[in-house]
Amino acid sequence: MLEFRTEKIKELRQSRRISQRALGDMLGISDRAVSKWETGLARPTAENMIRLAKIFEVPLEYFLRTDIEAEAAKTPVGMESIKELYKIGRGPSSSHTMGPERASLAFREKNKGADSFRAVLHGSLAKTGIGHGTDVVIKKTFEPYPCEVQLDMIEVDLPHPNTMDLYAYKDGSEIDRARVQSVGGGSIVFDDSTEEPPARIYKETTFEAIAECCRREHIRIWEYAVRVEGEGFLEYMQGIWSAMKAAIHRGLEDEGILPGGLDVHKKAKSLFDSQHIDETAETRENRMVCAYAFAVSEQNASGERIVTAPTCGASGVLPAVLYYQQKKRRLSDEAIIEALITAGVIGNLIKTNASISGAECGCQAEIGSACAMASAALAELFGLNLEKIEYAAEIAIEHHLGLTCDPICGLVQIPCIERNAVAAMRAINAVNLANFLWDTRKISLDRVIETMKETGHDLHTSYKETSEAGLAKIEL
Ligand code: SF4
Repeated sequence: MLEFRTEKIKELRQSRRISQRALGDMLGISDRAVSKWETGLARPTAENMIRLAKIFEVPLEYFLRTDIEAEAAKTPVGMESIKELYKIGRGPSSSHTMGPERASLAFREKNKGADSFRAVLHGSLAKTGIGHGTDVVIKKTFEPYPCEVQLDMIEVDLPHPNTMDLYAYKDGSEIDRARVQSVGGGSIVFDDSTEEPPARIYKETTFEAIAECCRREHIRIWEYAVRVEGEGFLEYMQGIWSAMKAAIHRGLEDEGILPGGLDVHKKAKSLFDSQHIDETAETRENRMVCAYAFAVSEQNASGERIVTAPTCGASGVLPAVLYYQQKKRRLSDEAIIEALITAGVIGNLIKTNASISGAECGCQAEIGSACAMASAALAELFGLNLEKIEYAAEIAIEHHLGLTCDPICGLVQIPCIERNAVAAMRAINAVNLANFLWDTRKISLDRVIETMKETGHDLHTSYKETSEAGLAKIEL
């Protein structure tokens, strides 16, 4: 069997600097149709395949591949830098505010001559964008120019659940347009982009391969990552840890009501302060870790600066676990950064082989991934071996499988803030279990990541950041 390689259309079009619209005009079809071919949502007819080969002056075979090649192409060819995972930005949602903000900024830069803009939000961006404040962020980014934001609740055949179209106008006439996907963790992909995607600097794409490399070289996971990332990486990670701590400090000072109209009070400070006289050490640990998780998550819900870990919605889990350990055991920033890097490798594996997007795979992809990252980080801090680190991360993901994303009113508040605190405690439990039971493990981390992806794709769409089901149906 032969398969048509739709991605080759994009490759050729970009190398010839032809826009989707221009290619569509040559073929007498819309730019949308070209976009669908390029993202694999549709295939050209036999007649258009031949015409494409003629336009690009390549043999038809150039677009075709065998079953064996098609199978090999499904395997990721590497992993991006951990810097693409940990990003500093404003909440409350990496895919619904951080991504659209970055896209709008880039589009505005590209169209300096425009005097007004329009944004059309599709899929999950349309269904929960107002709750997340997507419209407000986009309008603010285009200021002082006016930008109309429209919601499209109808189109379903999208290249990604978080898709948006941007239009630029001059004196009332359209001068440019672009389709953008907000693919999770604040990352964006312009359909028409001629920019190279981030380089895949890691050759290994499974935990098994990374562990094998660490065993061979007698190094820990964080050392493996430092070797791959190269110069300046530790400084970047110091900036990430400083931003995480700053969010905790601000969150513990902050009081009042979160924006959005749900009348949700900020609780981090009261959790931190409400000590009982006869409090046990275990209760205190629980209260402190939860206070730190609330602090970051409430800062995120307030639209303040946080670090995606791996997303805005799940940004409280990892800093809460690490900050508690740093305070309790008086650990240096260097030790915490090593743990953060190990967590980054785990997050990167999930991002590469499954998803970190709630709109794509539900909350298991956000909070489940954050919990796995925090478990691995804690295991690293305790100096546990590779098998225990793997088991801790595997337990953390396994017990989030199937977790839905259905926040009330689309606001990243209920259940998201508490969910960060619960996941932080679960990460601690996962490490304890892994430490005692590691030699009884039956499932690999790689296998459970695969399962998370399958589960996410099987989850009904209404439970993937659409505000259509579950808790989102509750009216407060
Ligand atoms: S429910 Fe989970 S995935 Fe959905 S917005 Fe909240 S934290 Fe993110």
